[in-house]
Amino acid sequence: MTSDANLKQPAIATGTAWQADVRAGVRHVRDLDRLPLSPAERAAAQAAAASHKVRVPKPYLDLIDWDDPNDPIRAQVIPSPDELIAAEGELGDPIGDHAYSPVPRLTHRHADRVLLFPTYQCAVYCRFCFRKESLTSIGRGYTRDALEPALAYIAGHPEIREVILTGGDPLSLPDKALAEIRARIEAIPHMRLLRIHTRVPVALPSRITAGLVAALQGRLMVTVVTHFNHPREITPDAETACRTMRQAGFVLLNQSVLLKGVNDHVEVLEELCRELMYRLGVKPYYLHHGDLARGMAHRRTTIAEGQALVAELRQRLSGICNPTYVIDLPDGGGKVPLAASHIEGRDGETWRIRGQDGKVRDYREVVG
Ligand code: SF4
Repeated sequence: MTSDANLKQPAIATGTAWQADVRAGVRHVRDLDRLPLSPAERAAAQAAAASHKVRVPKPYLDLIDWDDPNDPIRAQVIPSPDELIAAEGELGDPIGDHAYSPVPRLTHRHADRVLLFPTYQCAVYCRFCFRKESLTSIGRGYTRDALEPALAYIAGHPEIREVILTGGDPLSLPDKALAEIRARIEAIPHMRLLRIHTRVPVALPSRITAGLVAALQGRLMVTVVTHFNHPREITPDAETACRTMRQAGFVLLNQSVLLKGVNDHVEVLEELCRELMYRLGVKPYYLHHGDLARGMAHRRTTIAEGQALVAELRQRLSGICNPTYVIDLPDGGGKVPLAASHIEGRDGETWRIRGQDGKVRDYREVVG
């Protein structure tokens, strides 16, 4: 999957192309009838869809290989009966968003940054989503009034420097709403960074238009954190979308979720991370261990499996292509790295550290 600079690049999407892509996709559970599912699969999918909505824009639908029941793209968006099996220990709010929410539509877990939820709706509904119960139970879209308490909270807390627009998917909002939200945030003097967490460049790249980019440009540094999970998601249209955002001066990072049957092979992760960096100019940032979202046991790996995968990735990829393997702890414990330590022991100033070749070497600290 390499880029050819001589190939004609697709033009930046127009304002209406993405709306046609949404209309031609799966928008309601009844649209599952149009998909080449067996009657048993369709019945199971409809039952699972009752607890987490179904939405798949056409560009993402077109990536599915319908001849493969285990297709990794299909696994991310077509409901499975396994979602109906809640395992002991799974949680409705896996990372404790609600416990750290002082006002509606805002989570304040770390002093210098907040999560802001302008909408609880998405362009695509991912079956593995750790916020799926909030999306289903709250489900509301953007209104100016609904964000007022959250914006007042941010204005009243000068220690906050970063606002992370998440959701829901903020880039599923119209340009006008995005421009309004951006302007309200940047009018708060202590704000320094606007971060946007989105799956739109993956599932609906036509939405990355000149109008959308202009809506986000202003005083603040903008970082867009994309959510590619599999190398087949890196399409020419995704490449165009990322180039548009890079050329606007946005910093691009990616977070993936480690998902059994989707990307739990080192070759898949290796290709994903390389192509993100080399082809899209998107730095692989985090590889998340699967959260304890209900009904997702069939997609989670063990931590030991994840550690073995990232140890192998470290051997194969340069530092800039390597994501950090993290777990977002329940009850608001935050993200912490999970990769196995290379430190084997310590004797005073001498540390025993395992190198990438597997050999343990002594490293004696020399400080002035
Ligand atoms: S786009 Fe993000 S918030 Fe929406 S369902 Fe997918 S993972 Fe969840």
